[in-house]
Amino acid sequence: MLCNVARRAWQTRFMTPQTGEPIGQVTPATGGAAPIAQPVSGTRLDPWFGTYAERTHGMRASEIRALFAVANRPEVVSLAGGMPYLDGLPLEALAESAHELVLKRGTTALQYGAGQGDETLREQILEIMRMEHIHAHPDDVVVTTGSQQALDLVTRLFVNPGDVIVAEAPSYVGALGVFSSYEADVVHVPLDEDGLIPEALDETLTRLKAEGRRAKLLYTVPNFHNPAGVTLSPERRPRILEIARRHNVLVIEDNPYGLLGFEGEPYPAMRAMDETGVVYLGSFSKTFAPGYRVGWAVAPPGIREKLVLASESAILCPSNASQLAVSTYLTNHDWRGQIKAYREMYRERRDAMVGALAEYMPEATWTVPKGGFYTWVKLPYGIDARAMLPRAVTALVAYVSGTAFYADGQGSDHMRLSFCYPTPERIREGVRRLSGVVAAEAEL
Ligand code: PMP
Repeated sequence: MLCNVARRAWQTRFMTPQTGEPIGQVTPATGGAAPIAQPVSGTRLDPWFGTYAERTHGMRASEIRALFAVANRPEVVSLAGGMPYLDGLPLEALAESAHELVLKRGTTALQYGAGQGDETLREQILEIMRMEHIHAHPDDVVVTTGSQQALDLVTRLFVNPGDVIVAEAPSYVGALGVFSSYEADVVHVPLDEDGLIPEALDETLTRLKAEGRRAKLLYTVPNFHNPAGVTLSPERRPRILEIARRHNVLVIEDNPYGLLGFEGEPYPAMRAMDETGVVYLGSFSKTFAPGYRVGWAVAPPGIREKLVLASESAILCPSNASQLAVSTYLTNHDWRGQIKAYREMYRERRDAMVGALAEYMPEATWTVPKGGFYTWVKLPYGIDARAMLPRAVTALVAYVSGTAFYADGQGSDHMRLSFCYPTPERIREGVRRLSGVVAAEAEL
């Protein structure tokens, strides 16, 4: 039997606030709703309880995944998920391409492929990265199953249990999940409106060294940060690299949103300034479509060779069908025009979000992102975002509590609001509903 505390936690997480009914859970593999099973792993209900490897003890369901099922109900305005809005894609043309691909190149598309990924696609990836001033060779690129797999592979290569990974405060929840599954010790470094603070990074790395703790990786999302919405200023980029070099720390530059800026040209990537001390991660998930699950890593030769070996042992090779579909799209479609259309659409939604916050929630503070999907809101009156969430869902609006984005329990005074998926009208309505919940919370 579940103890009462565990049962309450489970109910808060997975039951509809109105009815108390279990509401289904999104399965990671399909994204579709599946009937929910009461979680048993990690409890004595699981007959394999004593058999799991120690590294599984750090595995937790992401707060976002737990929310998905509730947030996806049509009556809920979800400001929670980071799903790109795909309705603008040329679906008919993509269907035709898929048909042609199987007819004309089916025996390649449906076959195993190279562990490092399709060479034509790797060349096309170079062209995309040139927009951020990265000059690389196709051999430097490893295609992965989304950039999430690249994160997993890099962590697997470098992290022994107890090794330190330095990461922004807050950090992308999916990266924290990977780090904890390799039993890393995550040490957060603050950021501000200009991104990661170099002085704070230097101080943290110096302190860790004095304590005899080895920081191996610095994990950073420099552009349109998830969840903070901020961007590392061009002035800070070389300073961060210099500090990382001095402390012998490898930089993981995770950049799925870099081309989705609302103003001007993308900033030069850190990888453009340092070819040996940076592993750069890219993705087609936000600029094209996440369903193909195609991302990539660019790494110096020694790391790249090991990444390929690690990827081959995990998945043999990335999906040829997905890679060729993405490659065909890049060849046949106006992908630059598509990115431009995405930028305009997301800018309009960002404007709706910050406009609604100013109108309905002036007592809160928030970042004004210059691109990407997210704004980071600091709640007023000491309100606890995690505790408030069930009441927000009852009021038919969802967000992600700031606590999801820290490895050390901070963040309850913040929430992440996403403006990527709902229309501007729904965003306004969502923020209006949320303001009512915040006002009621302040009176509690
Ligand atoms: N990094 C960041 C910062 C992200 O926001 C995401 C997706 N939400 C990923 C990596 C993983 O993206 P994908 O695996 O779809 O490429």
